[in-house]
Order: sequence, then C-alpha cells, then structure tokens
Amino acid sequence: MIRLKPDNTSCIFCEIVSKRADASVVYEDEKVIAFMDIHPLGEGHVLVIPKHHAEYVQELSAVQQKHLFSISNQIIKAQRAVGFGEKGTNILINDGKAANQRVPHVHVHLVPRTKGDLFSSAFRVLLHITGLMGMVTKRATLEEQAAAIRASLDQL
Ligand code: 5GP
Ligand code: ZN
Repeated sequence: MIRLKPDNTSCIFCEIVSKRADASVVYEDEKVIAFMDIHPLGEGHVLVIPKHHAEYVQELSAVQQKHLFSISNQIIKAQRAVGFGEKGTNILINDGKAANQRVPHVHVHLVPRTKGDLFSSAFRVLLHITGLMGMVTKRATLEEQAAAIRASLDQL
C-alpha cells in the first residue's frame, strides 16, 4: 500500500518533491523526480525517487517500479553521454534501515564509476555507512552537472 505524505516535513525527499527543500533536478514528471546526490559516491551521482512517499520498493505498484527503473535507465544513458560512468554504473537501492537506508523514502542511486576509482569509491561508501557522509558538494557544481545531464536527456 502506498502511503501518501505530501506534507511529510520529516522526510527530506518529500521536502524536495514539494520544493520546500532545494535540489539540483535532473528530471521530473508526474510520478518521479531525479536530482543530484548532495554527498556523491562518485562524480555525477543521481538519485531517482517516486514522488509518493514509500519506504520500501515493495510498497510501490509494479507500474510504479517499472517507471522508476525505466527513468533510471534513461538517466544512466544521459549520464554516460556526458562522460559520467562511461564504463559502468552502480545501480543501488538500500531497501530498509538494516540495509543502510538512511532516508526512508525509496530511491535508486545511479553512481557513475571510473576505472581506478575503487579506493575513493570504497572510502565514500564507508562514510555513508557510518553516517559521517563526508563533504557536501557545492550547489554550483551540482547545478552544472544537473544541467549537463538534463541537456543530454533532451537529446535521447
Ligand atoms: P541512503 O543511505 O538512504 O541509501 O542514501 C540517501 C542518500 O541521500 C545519500 O546518498 C545522501 O547523500 C543523500 N541525501 C541526503 N540528504 C540529502 C539532501 O538534502 N539533498 C540531496 N540532494 N541528497 C541528500
Ligand atoms: Zn518522503
């Protein structure tokens, strides 16, 4: 069952959906929104989320799941076209608190990877798991990356 929480001020992703919190948006339609992760695990890291608040993937209908993954796939294409993750992407969902989900609103991580980034990537994952998170990426940088991915999506 989907829980609708349009005024869920305790959920940062619902705040982003309602535009009460800022984000560098890459894509938006009626059902989903995608934006740059503020503590990226790799350059160009995008989060794709359903607009309806749901904590677990299984709370989404099959149609919603399909749409979420179909948009994620398009965004991966766009990321690659601008040079993020040309050789590979980690497509990741932390489904529940015990699985390191820190924001309890379904989200697909699209983390572009590059050859030789294993050490820095593992370090950033460790920061996420421990909750330290690391440095926030500057809004201007996130905006620049979002603009490039948006432009690339328009060309698909
Ligand atoms: P989780 O650990 O729940 O799978 O991942 C949550 C993600 O949300 C993290 O990668 C974190 O950096 C990101 N995040 C948390 N708060 C914000 C925020 O206010 N804005 C953005 N853009 N990302 C956020
Ligand atoms: Zn939410």
